[in-house]
Amino acid sequence: MTLANSLAALDAAHQLHPFTDARALEEKGPIIIEKGDGVRVWDSTGKEYLEGMSGLWSVALGFGEERLVKAAHEQLQKLPYYHTFSAKSHEPSIRLAEKIAEMAPEGLNHVFFTNSGSEANDTVVKLVWYMNNALGRPQKKKFLARKNAYHGITMASGSLTGIEADHTDFDLPILPVIHLTTPHFYRFGAEGETEAQFTARLLKEIEDTIAREGADTIAAFIGEPVMGAGGVLVPPAGYWPGVAEICRKNDILLIADEVINGFGRLGTTFGCQRMGFTPDIMSVSKQLTSSYMPLAAVVFSDAVYNAVADNSHRLGGFAHGFTASGHPVATAVGLENLKIIEERGLVAHAAELEPMFQKGLRDMLEFPIVGEARGVGLIGAIDLVADKATKRKFSKPGQVGQIANGFAHEEGLILRAIGDTLALCPPMISTEAEVAEMLRRMRVAVERTVKAVA
Ligand code: PLP
Repeated sequence: MTLANSLAALDAAHQLHPFTDARALEEKGPIIIEKGDGVRVWDSTGKEYLEGMSGLWSVALGFGEERLVKAAHEQLQKLPYYHTFSAKSHEPSIRLAEKIAEMAPEGLNHVFFTNSGSEANDTVVKLVWYMNNALGRPQKKKFLARKNAYHGITMASGSLTGIEADHTDFDLPILPVIHLTTPHFYRFGAEGETEAQFTARLLKEIEDTIAREGADTIAAFIGEPVMGAGGVLVPPAGYWPGVAEICRKNDILLIADEVINGFGRLGTTFGCQRMGFTPDIMSVSKQLTSSYMPLAAVVFSDAVYNAVADNSHRLGGFAHGFTASGHPVATAVGLENLKIIEERGLVAHAAELEPMFQKGLRDMLEFPIVGEARGVGLIGAIDLVADKATKRKFSKPGQVGQIANGFAHEEGLILRAIGDTLALCPPMISTEAEVAEMLRRMRVAVERTVKAVA
């Protein structure tokens, strides 16, 4: 038995995998990824892949950045762990908090560290509730979110998530959350409706919801500037500025979930900047450390901070935090990662690659099964459909996506099949030639899928 075979057997015997059919894994075994370098990873059979998904939309600097390894190593030697509870602090967390505040939109000067994006969004909920209790408005607790949004999988963040499969049999949502229409014109635009009319309808839905529920019961609106895990869904023009205006008018906090968009993915430092709005709170993670270490953060305004700080003083402490909040190794890696993103101009690089990347995706509209191609910056997707004219979906949702995903794998490209949507999110360090090669392999996978489903 080879090492790969025995590892596969051990994996099936002992490890339950996220977002995986456990019985299928027992039968087929996992794909064991052994090593990585640049935009490539290799599996245990020696097969090489272009990592067109940056892992989980996160490995901005690719899989072999020595400076991040060095930053971790040096911090491990100096101070491998210390916490940030009870007024303790350490330099890496301080420096990274300062760096995030410097990069963040005007007025977002305060940072709370967590280990994951889910914990960041749970922290957002608690922060907002704590603030509203402190301000003497305990009834202002509801969240507005969107169908198909992904905000994480813990009890609160999983409740904000608007993907049905992530709720099924987990008894979610547990929060008072209202999931509004997904801002995706191709799929949710009504027959004969223009994009501008679609935007107006969605904004009216928000206003009507607020009028129905009462603005004094709604704490916040949360959304990813461009939705990621829901299928790379780009909102229609005017949507975000409209949402921001409605929130301001109604004293509802606006929260940008920048876990995928943040640190350059859309060709701007944060997705909200590209989409034309300024939030009160952002959650960030993923490209914060290029996923070399688990780390996330909530970034918030002076107004939120002041209400929370006053209340922590009144109560004798802000009773929230994690053993690893601001972990020194994770924050040291995050700081080095952000420095590299700046030094190498990777945000501008994403903007420069955008035209060829997005054109490459849109060129796939020539295939009879590609219904829509979309994206912004260095994130994009195509939708596979049974009938382009009517946008009719395939009879078994997700099956054709899996076929295409299998072909991409054979061609040496890791992409992500989300139902019958194929997403691509190249590392931010990708060269134009590497992005072109990812697109070429994706085209081959789609061509083979066209023949397979004919
Ligand atoms: N928010 C968004 C937009 C995400 O895409 C994700 C994860 O993909 C999360 C939150 C949750 O982050 P984590 O998986 O680190 O808990």
